[in-house]
Amino acid sequence: SLPLEKYSPVEHACWKYGQPAPYIHLAQTFDLVEAEKGKIKATSMLCNMFRSLLDLSPKDVLPAVYLCTNKIAADHDNMELNIGGSLVAAALQEACGINRSRIRDMYNSLGDLGDVAQECRQTQSLLVPLSPLLIQDVFSVLREISMQTGSGSTGRKKSLIVGLMRSCREKEMKFLVRTLVRNLRIGAMMKTILPALAQAVVMNSLSQSHHELTNANLKEKLQSVSAAVVEAYNILPNLDVLVPSLMSKGIEFSSTTVTMVPGIPIRPMLAKITNGVPQALKLFENKAFTCEFKYDGQRAQIHKMADGCVRIFSRNGDETTARFPDVVHIIQDACRSSAVSFIIDAEVVAVDRKNEDKLLSFQELSSRDRGCKASSVAMDRIKVDVCAFVFDIMFVNGEQLLSYPLRQRRNYMKDLFNGGKSGYLQYAKEITIEEDDACVDSEVTLTKINTFLEDALQSSCEGIMIKSLDTDAGYLPSKRADSWLKVKRDYVDGLNDSIDLVPIGAWHGNGRKAGWYSPFLMACYNPDTEEFESVCRVMSGFSDFFYVEMREFFSEDKILSKKPSYYRTAETPDMWFSPELVWAIRGADFTVSPVHQAAVGRVHPSRGISVRFPRFVRSVTDRGPEDCSTSADIAEMFQAQTRKLNVSTAYS
Ligand code: ATP
Repeated sequence: SLPLEKYSPVEHACWKYGQPAPYIHLAQTFDLVEAEKGKIKATSMLCNMFRSLLDLSPKDVLPAVYLCTNKIAADHDNMELNIGGSLVAAALQEACGINRSRIRDMYNSLGDLGDVAQECRQTQSLLVPLSPLLIQDVFSVLREISMQTGSGSTGRKKSLIVGLMRSCREKEMKFLVRTLVRNLRIGAMMKTILPALAQAVVMNSLSQSHHELTNANLKEKLQSVSAAVVEAYNILPNLDVLVPSLMSKGIEFSSTTVTMVPGIPIRPMLAKITNGVPQALKLFENKAFTCEFKYDGQRAQIHKMADGCVRIFSRNGDETTARFPDVVHIIQDACRSSAVSFIIDAEVVAVDRKNEDKLLSFQELSSRDRGCKASSVAMDRIKVDVCAFVFDIMFVNGEQLLSYPLRQRRNYMKDLFNGGKSGYLQYAKEITIEEDDACVDSEVTLTKINTFLEDALQSSCEGIMIKSLDTDAGYLPSKRADSWLKVKRDYVDGLNDSIDLVPIGAWHGNGRKAGWYSPFLMACYNPDTEEFESVCRVMSGFSDFFYVEMREFFSEDKILSKKPSYYRTAETPDMWFSPELVWAIRGADFTVSPVHQAAVGRVHPSRGISVRFPRFVRSVTDRGPEDCSTSADIAEMFQAQTRKLNVSTAYS
């Protein structure tokens, strides 16, 4: 039966039709969702909350979606709250009149600043009845906080927070504080919130139009609009545009309702790992494909807008234009006048122009200044030159190209520029294997690809990408698809690839490492359950400087006093960290473990997958904790390792 049958608009004494929605409506929903483990029920609770808003106060829907997803703006707007736990604790002290050491004691026993705030509020007696805190108030004050910069900004932020705290009733305090420290953790992320909203929109549109659908048709409609809105978010990850569009289209909403907009980054397509050329060839048997150099730099989604302005976004959707003013000039200089607006995919790589444009390492690129939102890096301060290697195009002059096969997209891509300029702007180096030669038994093809791979490695690339050219060769935003495979340098007896893991805890170091953290407990992410699952302990590959840095970084509010419910592991480290960082880890191989819980249930009913002899490779700064390797990635790599053991005997 459908989960939405029992809907009735929520009654709040303080909320009448047409009036703005009180924040308590959201806080109560968060409270119910937090206590609920089942995803379907949680989605239907959120759906009912959205239905009430759509019925009674539609303009609160957008701020509510933002608050549910723990955001105050689209990622590419680079708007940050920049509030630490100590500022929130200071505001709490002022708002509730509770001294600092009492707050610290409560934090040590409760382990969550939101729970501490809630308890402080409950023990406080209020003389004057409070006017209700509105969803709009909370959202607009959060945005105001994010705009406070410069001298005195900490004080101004604090008084804005105190103002909000003083208006809190019941559960509001707990969720307000969690939002402030960006740790809402109700177990619902964009992939839950957007379908919940889509379902609410469908149900309300149907009930308003007195449309009767059979249960089966209704279920199908709910699923199709939910999937459409998630897909639309991949090409237009901007709630300011997406949510109003969904609300106005109602049941007619489809993923083609929204189109890409230069200036708003789309979620990039990702590649699947393979364990070598033979495996890739097997997957592309009888299909035309291309091999491209896999450059070792930073992904750059480059947007040219109709007004001539060029903007650059990272793999994560953060704007990096200020960091690459030279790339902006390069693009503007090279563009044909016919290329009015476009969105292309490229890798920006450090190069040595004095040495035949030799490609330099990722570390060289990282040493460049980052610039900031307000000001770009000055051109004369750029010490490391870069070249943009363009490898795909998604949009040109108002036309969306995602569904076109790569061979066709390439034609559009090659039309954009007046040829490349070595060391500045180049198309990714490639070779094409036509359908007739795409045969796993062909010595000639195998040799051609292996020679190309050798060439890529000699040129300081990470390996090669192998991509379908004609069949299933569309650009799939945010997908790690079979049509893009990566073949990296094969580390003898090692993992083919590094994995990106999140430090979730650590032990106190001993001996030389006394006073630092060592080892660290590392986890992958499971987007289905929204939990972090432990993979391994890591204690090698770090510099002493890094240990010191991490000792400082993981302090105060970044140390949790108890294991959060969304961490899965049988390990008991000395301390738990909030999920903040992503590190690339390499190891010898994967193994099944009774302690680690990564991908539990996928290869063994009760055991997880772990990495043997893990080693820290580098910090991954262009990725958030939820974008780290997933349990499915790890299970797939584990299975690829098992296949490799069989395949290697067949091809060696
Ligand atoms: P990795 O850590 O291997 O870079 P990733 O998870 O960041 O992996 P993948 O999808 O695994 O991303 O690999 C694709 C990445 O490789 C792209 O994000 C891009 O930065 C880089 N890259 C370099 N050259 C190419 C190319 N020719 N085509 C596609 N991606 C390329």
